[in-house]
Amino acid sequence: MPKIQLDIASCEECPHLNKKNPCSSDGWDRMIDWFCDKTGQKIAGAVEWHDNISIPPWCPLLSNDERKKTINTIIEEKKISLNACKKHKEKLSNDIAAREQEIERLNQEIEELSKKVGDK
Ligand code: SF4
Repeated sequence: MPKIQLDIASCEECPHLNKKNPCSSDGWDRMIDWFCDKTGQKIAGAVEWHDNISIPPWCPLLSNDERKKTINTIIEEKKISLNACKKHKEKLSNDIAAREQEIERLNQEIEELSKKVGDK
């Protein structure tokens, strides 16, 4: 049997892509679940027209080199996401520390005002 090789950038160009469950809340958005008929696995859920869905690393059509490249890309994306979360966490920690100081300051003010009221 002849082997046909595909040069594709997305599952959308693959004959094994099966789109299911189109749904729309307002008649404008169309979200679709993507499944791979070659493996039976779900590629992505609630895909919208503007989403850029990468070929998953488990795709049986990927060569080992392409699989490694895909996995490295995913690792890099996860690292970027992790760093963004760390920065957000740091900012939230600073905000919480500032608010705790404000609470402390307000408690001292209340205590001082209460003493003044009690003195009279
Ligand atoms: S995972 Fe691979 S085989 Fe499956 S639809 Fe995507 S490109 Fe095609």
